[in-house]
Amino acid sequence: MRIIPISLPTPFYIGPVNVYLIAEDPLTIIDTGPKTKEAIEALRAGMRQAGFLVSDLRRIVLTHAHEDHCGLARSLRDEAKNAEVLIHNWETGHRHSRLQHEEHRTLLVRAGVPEAEIAGMRALYEHMRKYGDSFADDEYTSLWDEAELEFESGSLRILHTPGHTPGSCSFLREADRTVIAGDCVLKRITPNPVLSPDPIDPSRRFPSLAEYLVSLARLRSLSPTLVYGGHGEPIRDFEELFHRYFRAFQDRQSQVIGLVTKNGVTAWDVALKMFPNADDVHRFLSVSEAVAHLDMAHSEGKIAYELSGQAEVYKPLV
Ligand SMILES: [Zn+2]
Ligand SMILES: [Zn+2]
Repeated sequence: MRIIPISLPTPFYIGPVNVYLIAEDPLTIIDTGPKTKEAIEALRAGMRQAGFLVSDLRRIVLTHAHEDHCGLARSLRDEAKNAEVLIHNWETGHRHSRLQHEEHRTLLVRAGVPEAEIAGMRALYEHMRKYGDSFADDEYTSLWDEAELEFESGSLRILHTPGHTPGSCSFLREADRTVIAGDCVLKRITPNPVLSPDPIDPSRRFPSLAEYLVSLARLRSLSPTLVYGGHGEPIRDFEELFHRYFRAFQDRQSQVIGLVTKNGVTAWDVALKMFPNADDVHRFLSVSEAVAHLDMAHSEGKIAYELSGQAEVYKPLV
């Protein structure tokens, strides 16, 4: 089973995105790139080089529903005459623009984000929508943990690896322990556990960091020899990366706990102190990061928490 990485340009800060063509019957692509002219052209060129056309695709598998990964899914599906689209059903909340939902607003209010900032974040995500199409519930097939994506000569095992988003999935080729991991594992940067409503109970927050650490440990237990990430080069030394991530998480935990002062702080306060110069989408990501670490520190009994009006306020233990 040949896995062919294709790098596609994105208009986003993160830079190019990697999609993976599985050159095997049924012809499958894992992730699609954003809905831009540049990305579809680069995809056509990459597929042509491998001897295929977009219209040959039979299956479009999505690691998660961020625009840089899923944006072209509908266009590809239409061009390939109803190729099957597969994504984990916990990505449902993401399929129709992230900050549109009332639940997201509630999460941001609870994180102490001022109304004007929430409006700004919304406008930004409205703008992001043009880089992807959403799908109705009957237009996709759900990916299931531990199920197999069958090919003519072999299969890829589906691993539900939540954290970056609730429905993020990775794919394992068991024969040589190669993993395609989307944004769960990236070579140069530590993936952001993005603030999301819990897919089971949207009035709650998804425990993104705790889930992410479990996913990382699970990938580690498979002793992968090669990990293909959603951005950047492949990773051949997963063990080294695992420890690097772990140290980064511990450092960030200590930093966040250190920012919790006697008078009480919200995630927004912590985000501003950690990343005073964050703008645009990074404002939202820095709030995500602060919430994830405060949540984790609180669940481990390292800091106290109370509600003040609608906002969650964290204080040192007394
Ligand atoms: Zn992502
Ligand atoms: Zn990405």
